[in-house]
Amino acid sequence: MVEGPGHIPINEIEANIILEKRMSGESPFYMLGPITTDIAPGYDHITAAIGAALSSAYGADFICYVTPSEHLGLPFPEDVREGVMAARIAAHIGDMIKLGRKERDKEMSKARRDMDWARQFALAIDPERAMEIKGKRDNGDEHMCTMCGKFCANDILMGMFTNDMEGSDKR
Ligand code: SF4
Repeated sequence: MVEGPGHIPINEIEANIILEKRMSGESPFYMLGPITTDIAPGYDHITAAIGAALSSAYGADFICYVTPSEHLGLPFPEDVREGVMAARIAAHIGDMIKLGRKERDKEMSKARRDMDWARQFALAIDPERAMEIKGKRDNGDEHMCTMCGKFCANDILMGMFTNDMEGSDKR
């Protein structure tokens, strides 16, 4: 396995992978993220996940997780969790392109359209986090999402669709 760079801007990721793959006879390629900017200490799980998602999409075979404490200190368990979740999300984003795995995202779109919360949580990469955030914003109506409240486009469209169907039944 060939190990790639850990700190490069996003416009150099694709060329790195193409060159490494060509020069190594298509050996497995391991990208250390890469971290895509050096000015965000405390957020390197995000700078690395951006690089990892692109690396994976361009053909990297292995990515690593980076914690928020990178360049600052040894990670605590909660830092490790943040880093691993960011890397898992990056790997999935890359696989959507590299391996064409988009089915789960399509299913999530349908679950959101239907306001099917159980299905949304089942499809989520981190159901615990999703349930925690939704639970903290409870407005007394479990069906609703509080982001746009009564202006929820989903709810309005579903209401229009239902009214339309009822109207056409009467005609
Ligand atoms: S309230 Fe807004 S964010 Fe929430 S489901 Fe409806 S459209 Fe989406």
